[in-house]
Amino acid sequence: MKKVSILILCLLFLCGCQEQAEPAKQYSKTVFAMDTVMELSVYGVEDMLAGAEYIITDTENQLSVTRPDSEIYRLNEEGQGKVSENTYALLEQALELCTLTDGALDISIYPVVKAWGFTTDEHRVPDANELNTLLQSVDYSKIELREGNAVLLGEHMQIDLGSVAKGWLGDAILDYFRSNGVESAMINLGGNVQALGAKSDGSLWRVAITDPSEEGYAGVVEIKDRAVITSGGYERYFDQDGLRYHHIIDPSTGYPADGGLLSVTIIGESGVTCDALSTALFVMGFDKATYFWKHNNGFEAIFITDNGICITEGLTSVFSPLGKYENTEVVILHRD
Ligand code: AMP
Ligand code: MG
Repeated sequence: MKKVSILILCLLFLCGCQEQAEPAKQYSKTVFAMDTVMELSVYGVEDMLAGAEYIITDTENQLSVTRPDSEIYRLNEEGQGKVSENTYALLEQALELCTLTDGALDISIYPVVKAWGFTTDEHRVPDANELNTLLQSVDYSKIELREGNAVLLGEHMQIDLGSVAKGWLGDAILDYFRSNGVESAMINLGGNVQALGAKSDGSLWRVAITDPSEEGYAGVVEIKDRAVITSGGYERYFDQDGLRYHHIIDPSTGYPADGGLLSVTIIGESGVTCDALSTALFVMGFDKATYFWKHNNGFEAIFITDNGICITEGLTSVFSPLGKYENTEVVILHRD
């Protein structure tokens, strides 16, 4: 079941307390794409939302796994082919992130995701034999990127860029804004929040983190020039025979990842990296994910488990718990 993202993550705007001669003009738009609600806001510069909407449509047309005319759909049908420069560049980055996370992120997981019915919403629990057979063709290291934007997949392999596409798209939109002189913008692509600069009055953006265990928010983080990207089982799941099955699959088992996390939020500069890491660290589970953070620089993280919230040390002064988490200890992880 997919919750409409706007209900689960919102942007909290501070009331303007300072006197401003003329507040920067705000241009906003809501777009429905990639199966989710996308909110775009640009401040101070002429309306450029039509351009952003074009980038969204174009990216969806290239990357969709279900549209028969998309590059990824054709690649999955034919096992090889040429793709656009953009898609090729995304595949290069995605494969690097699959390697970095030692296969916790694996873009060739698609046949398994399909077997669980997450792309069609026809949910079912595949049996162990079926999963084992499908897992034989899951191995990102067998994807070959060749000269001339050519891609060759392994036997029976199919790929799905759903774990990185929205972060990639967010980077593309913010690059477009930046190159057109925008200094302040905020986009929320179905819960993936990305900010360009600070708010137009110079203060930080306040981004709410969804409480994965109930309606409402678990906290707020104050940022500028950052992506804040969350993965959690609560975002898409179905229940059967008293058990809950969600959409983030552990490529080493074929089953929904079950590493003691309710959600992982990654905060960093690059949308595509944060998107990849939020999915991968959710798959790793709490222990491996915290180890990964300690041994890799350039991002901060918020882990929510049944026991509460754990944040990395770089967030100490910018994270405030909300709701039931206000009365529990927020554990701070250090890099030793
Ligand atoms: P996200 O919401 O960014 O965490 O991405 C989750 C989506 O990525 C799922 O809906 C699947 O389409 C796909 N996916 C699930 N498990 C994995 C995985 N281990 N590696 C890569 N993609 C995955
Ligand atoms: Mg992701």
